[in-house]
Amino acid sequence: MAEGKYVYRFDEGSAQMRDLLGGKGANLCEMTRLGLPVPPGFIISVEAFREYYRLERRAPEGLWEQVRQNAALIEQTAGRRFGDAGDPLLLSVRSGSKFSMPGMMDTVLNLGLNDATLEGLARATSDRRFALDSYRRFIQLFSKVVLHLPASQFEEALAQARKRHRVASDAELPEAALEDVVSEFKNIVQRLSSSPFPSDPWEQLQLAVQAVFDSWNSPRAVAYRRHHSIPDDLGTAATIMMMVFGNSGWDSGTGVCFSRDPNTGERALYGEYLPNAQGEDVVSGSRTPKPIAELAREMPPIYRQLEEIAGQLERHYTDVQDIEFTVERGKLYILQTRSAKRAGAAAVKTAVDMVDEGLIDRQEALRRVPPLDLSQLLLPRFEPRSRENAVREGRLLGRGLNASPGAATGRAIFEAEAVQETAEEGDTVILVRPETSAEDVPAILKAAAVLTSRGGITSHAAVVTRGLGKPAVVGCARLHVDLPRRRMSVNSKTIREGDEISIDGFTGEVFAGHIETMTPSISGDVYLERLLAWADDFRRLRVRANADTMEEALQALAFGAEGIGLCRTEHMFFDPDRLPYVRQVLLYAREAAQLEREALDAQEAMMVTAGAAREEAQRRMEAVKERLREDERARQYRVALDQLSHFQTRDFREILRAMDGKPVVIRLLDAPLHEFLPPHDSLLEEVTALRITGRDPQALEEKERLLEVSRALREANPMLGHRGCRLGLTYPDIYEMQVRCIIGATRELRGQGLDPHSEIMIPMVMDVSELRALKANLERLVQELEKDSANAAPIHFGTMIELPRAALTAGDLAPEVEFFSFGSNDLTQMTFGFSRDDAEEKFLRFYVEKGLLRTNPFKTIDEKGMGRLIEMAVKEGRGSNPRLEIGLCGEHGGDPQSVDFCHRAGLDYVSCSPMRIPISRLAAAQAALEAGERDV
Ligand code: ADP
Ligand code: MG
Ligand code: MG
Repeated sequence: MAEGKYVYRFDEGSAQMRDLLGGKGANLCEMTRLGLPVPPGFIISVEAFREYYRLERRAPEGLWEQVRQNAALIEQTAGRRFGDAGDPLLLSVRSGSKFSMPGMMDTVLNLGLNDATLEGLARATSDRRFALDSYRRFIQLFSKVVLHLPASQFEEALAQARKRHRVASDAELPEAALEDVVSEFKNIVQRLSSSPFPSDPWEQLQLAVQAVFDSWNSPRAVAYRRHHSIPDDLGTAATIMMMVFGNSGWDSGTGVCFSRDPNTGERALYGEYLPNAQGEDVVSGSRTPKPIAELAREMPPIYRQLEEIAGQLERHYTDVQDIEFTVERGKLYILQTRSAKRAGAAAVKTAVDMVDEGLIDRQEALRRVPPLDLSQLLLPRFEPRSRENAVREGRLLGRGLNASPGAATGRAIFEAEAVQETAEEGDTVILVRPETSAEDVPAILKAAAVLTSRGGITSHAAVVTRGLGKPAVVGCARLHVDLPRRRMSVNSKTIREGDEISIDGFTGEVFAGHIETMTPSISGDVYLERLLAWADDFRRLRVRANADTMEEALQALAFGAEGIGLCRTEHMFFDPDRLPYVRQVLLYAREAAQLEREALDAQEAMMVTAGAAREEAQRRMEAVKERLREDERARQYRVALDQLSHFQTRDFREILRAMDGKPVVIRLLDAPLHEFLPPHDSLLEEVTALRITGRDPQALEEKERLLEVSRALREANPMLGHRGCRLGLTYPDIYEMQVRCIIGATRELRGQGLDPHSEIMIPMVMDVSELRALKANLERLVQELEKDSANAAPIHFGTMIELPRAALTAGDLAPEVEFFSFGSNDLTQMTFGFSRDDAEEKFLRFYVEKGLLRTNPFKTIDEKGMGRLIEMAVKEGRGSNPRLEIGLCGEHGGDPQSVDFCHRAGLDYVSCSPMRIPISRLAAAQAALEAGERDV
């Protein structure tokens, strides 16, 4: 078998080859082509990685040959030889997959050192201290990454050395101290692994490559891929390149910079660096780095060159770049570039700015912003007065770096395991650590925010939280975090595990105790407004809001809602002022319905009988009518209905006025009736107590009646019970009352010269017979109420599609209505046979974690199952009523993936909660752009 090509020099690859060379490798190639100062190197391809795994973790034939040949080329360029005891070349071995997984896989630096090459390096650089520093770094990192030895003893040895020599950082350790550290490190390796540290450079290289390949399957890499939905079979490449040394004195250093501010999008170099250090020092957060602006003062020519390169890379990639650089004795090297991860605000601003700068077009700008990131722009902030109080009360503990935006109040937790427990108890957690590392990722996922006492804005904690959109404050040096005792202290104050603290990721402030948070509005954000205006130009789906109150309606309008897709009337019934009337109605509605039916029966009997039977029927009918008129409870019932209709009319009037000129879909009452009654058990207790004391017979009578109703209404499974149109059919007065209110409010506003568009939606329909029966009655009512308003906009009737049977019989339903609206939450419940609350609480997470379900179907529409019901209903509904308008209401309307599905399924609109409207507008534009691409 001919052996494959497994190795690519930097000048052989390009940015297009990310699949084969990984993102890091491909970009190193691209930068080499652009003539940027990249140290020489080559890449072992992802194909070699795949072969390695296919051969059960053995290098494919010819791999090491190719590596040696290419290493020789580096040697030529560098003018030094790998393993040469005179003047050794050192290498780094770096991981890198198609998608960047920062810090999740391993890298080995300073490879090629042993006792002999150490001396060579010391001589060649005339700097023995530097050579020793590199050697100790190499042993430490190699032991961790390749030999898998625990890090603690190495760290302990360094800490001891710092203490002995009274210095704060490793960079200040004198030569003699490093000499001791190196020999101690070698001892530790011998002790822990029962064999000496491997000294053959070629063996070191092979072991390091294998370790980098193996790190693809490290638990933290696997967890990261799971979380970011990166496929496990992509694999990683390994990049081998010449070391350059940021640790070779105070005219050297290393850092990370962004071509624009990744938090705000501001157009200025952003980042930080550490003098006399290697890359790992910046990322690990073990020393707090200096802001990049200081580099402008300390090394002005380097700063200017860096600025120029950042600009060049940004123009070349037409995207914000995140760049690793190292300065070796006054010479700048670029070691990595990639598209910068950025906060929502920065994503929006840079996308808009880049259109203005002519770098990208509007379509590209729209594609660039992940819709869910917009929610960060609406991130919670501290309520200003509550914050002021905290300051006044002396609760401001300190200020760290504002690493990731958002504000949070929660319990301070110091240990990863405790985060899980506390979060499961339903408490908000703020993870507090001296610094975080990849092992803390599961805890960070559970926590609401992160606070560290060390590290900079590109530290692990900062990078991870920014990616997750969680607030973080890092490098708050005044905090003394005492992990073993699970507490932190600032000056004289102590915060113990479980105490409440508050952190502000916008400003970096840290407070003791609780501060109220609030959520801002978007209007006034010119960048977001412009981006969303472009989204509106490209999208086809309309976006409406789910809003039950005027306040929500106004908020929805501010976010760009084109109407209300779901106004639920249940909430209007739950108001404590109204509940007594609701109960009053419920108490008698059954009886009223019963009497109405008796009257109807009697009337029918009158028509088909004669003589005495007919007279008897007439007497019965009159008696019933008499009862309905005169009975005290019947009277109370009518009063209560009247009161409720007064309230409802006001509600509808307010919402319709707010939404003047835009459609408002009002859903008739849906909730199971027992939700309006006090819980059966507590009623029973109250009745028993009242019976025993016997003191308040009137209260007793009332409670007994409630108890009786509650018994009668109790259901084994309310979700599948007497609700929606079933209720409307059996208790006709309620829907009639609601329709009267809708028409009343509509007419009133019309009278004021406004343009209300009410649409009436009937819930929980399973068959056209239900629709026909209800509509016959309600439409007659509408006609009667509207008979004098000839040229007013007609009131539309529609039905929710939220039962599989409704979707399956959509062709029958469609001719009866003007619109469908998919109630995607109930439809998911009914399709899966899951009750949402029970499922999410008890087993859904298990299903998702075990891969039994790919995602939570209540978050993202299950296209495979429920999606087919939707597609069928759309097709057959439009088939029998071409003018049918079709929407979807429910949380899915604010989920970008589901919005994309709705676009493809040909819906007319989605409706979501007001806060999600910006997300849906952008998602709808992306769906349209995506579909457009496919058509081409
Ligand atoms: P990660 O993906 O975790 O950032 P990298 O492969 O980028 O891992 O390397 C870790 C650190 O080592 C980075 O700061 C990088 O700049 C530095 N580094 C990698 N290769 C070299 C090299 N040849 N010379 C100097 N520093 C290097
Ligand atoms: Mg890197
Ligand atoms: Mg429903």
